[in-house]
This record gives sequence, C-alpha cells and structure tokens, in this order.
Amino acid sequence: MKRGDWLIEEQTPSYQTRWRVKDVLHVEQTPYQLLRLVEMEDFGRALVLDDAVQTTVGDEHIYHEMIAHVPLFTHPNPERVLIIGGGDGGTAREVCRHESVTKVDMVEIDRAVIEACKKYLPETACGMDHPKVNLVVGDGLKWVADHTDEYDVIIVDSSDPVGPATGLFNRAFYENVYRALKAEGLFVAQVLSPFFHQDLIRDVYGVVSTIFPITMPYLTVVPTYPSGLHCFMLGSKKHSPLREGIGKPSWPTRWYTPAIHRAAFELPPMVAELVEPAGVQTGQ
Ligand code: SAM
Repeated sequence: MKRGDWLIEEQTPSYQTRWRVKDVLHVEQTPYQLLRLVEMEDFGRALVLDDAVQTTVGDEHIYHEMIAHVPLFTHPNPERVLIIGGGDGGTAREVCRHESVTKVDMVEIDRAVIEACKKYLPETACGMDHPKVNLVVGDGLKWVADHTDEYDVIIVDSSDPVGPATGLFNRAFYENVYRALKAEGLFVAQVLSPFFHQDLIRDVYGVVSTIFPITMPYLTVVPTYPSGLHCFMLGSKKHSPLREGIGKPSWPTRWYTPAIHRAAFELPPMVAELVEPAGVQTGQ
C-alpha cells in the first residue's frame, strides 16, 4: 500500500468501507496480526489490525470517552481498573482522568501494537505512560482467570472476535470477569455494530445476562467503525448505569456528557429487539 491508494475494510462481500491513504507509516506482521499505521486523508493517523480500523486520530475521542466514562461514572468509587487490550492507549488515558482511580492494570497481548502506537499515535499512547498504569504484555484471557475479587471496573477494549480476541467473547471469559470483579464491580466490552453483528450482540447479551444481574447494551457513533453505529455491553453486579447521583467530568470532554451517558442506553427498537427475549433493561 502506498500514498494515494485506498485502505479497504470489507464488512460483507457486498459492503466495503474505504479511506484514501495519505501515507503509510508502519507495516509489520506480528505474531498475532498484521499491524499497520497509516495516515488517512480525512481522519488522520490510524491503527489498522488485520485490515480492521482500530482507532483514528479523527474520532478516537468518541470511542475512548464512551468506553471509559460510562462504567467509571456508573461505579460510585472506582479505584482498581483492568483494561484488556487497548494497545493504542486511549482507554487508559481516559480512565486515568478519574481521581478515584488508584491503579490501572492494562493487559495488551501484542507488544508491537504498544510500540507502534507510542511512536505514531502519541495522542492516545500517552495514556500508557501515566503513573497509575501498570502496563502488562500478556493475554487478557489468562490474566482474568488468574485474578479474583480484585477490580471495581473491567474494560474489554479488544479487537473484534478474530485471532487473539476470539476467546474474549464467550461464557468462560465473562464468568472469569465476574470472579475478577469486587462485590460491587462492573464491566464493559465493545461488541461491534448492531448493523453487521446482530448475532454477536444477541449472543453476548444472552450469556452476560445469565451471569450479571444488570446487563445493558449502550450505543455511540464511531464514524470509522462499520456502519458508524457502535455497541458496548455493560454487566454490573450492583450499580445501574441509570442510577441517581451519577457524577460528571471535572475536565473538558469532546463527546461524553451525563445526558449522553443516559441517552446511550435508550435503545432504538431495532437494537432493543436483539436483547428483548432475555428481558432488556432500559431507562424506561
Ligand atoms: N477500539 C478498538 C475496537 O473497538 O476494535 C480496539 C483497539 S485496541 C488496539 C484492540 C487490542 O486488543 C489490540 O491491540 C489487540 O492486540 C488486543 N487484544 C486482542 N486479543 C487480546 C487478548 N486476548 N489479550 C490482550 N489483548 C488482546
């Protein structure tokens, strides 16, 4: 791939997204995935893993604010946080803004992603240099299985369920997440798009809702993700994301607000029907 080419991401044999490439900054076949750092004409520098856009300078703030602040404001006093994946550092950057957080374990399987993002995506990778962050190169699957009753919030900021992330979307993993959480803990995972991944969202909800007493999908927009509509799944042992008294940022945000936090859980019927059979809990 070279300047002027199209970066193409295929969702189905008849649906592709493509971005005009301004520059190719780094290409590496790691032990886990094809790693590329490119500069797009419209969204700036971007991390691409196995042909899937992971994060871009142009819209990363939306995803990272919504995957971090929704769970961290839902928990009344989050101190210990685990991030699985998140090798671009953006989630860690947002988590560390919360004064109550004392320590973040961040477990990213691919050292090459960390190093490439530190070199080409300083805007997000700065999160990995925060003094609160304990950066571990390892498999999140194993880490979660080896830790019990330790975390207030767990954030699964993984790539899509292929390659190293395949095991991060099944019952065994979510049961280990439950055990790794403290008594009032909660977790969030990115679960792709309601337009292209309905079965995944339905299946994840069906499993998580048998493990956690509170299970609620929420939505945001991420222009550079498939269809632009992106879903997260929240599973909580005690606290509802719509509870009274949820705090608000004391720092400037570019997307997250308390109103957007609540609105994210108002599911349009086409999304609610993916989870209704299991009895979706919404704001109504
Ligand atoms: N925001 C992106 C998304 O929604 O697709 C995710 C970005 S982040 C770069 C995804 C990271 O998950 C990748 O760096 C990948 O190496 C990491 N990952 C995948 N499977 C993993 C596992 N089993 N343990 C730890 N990290 C994993």
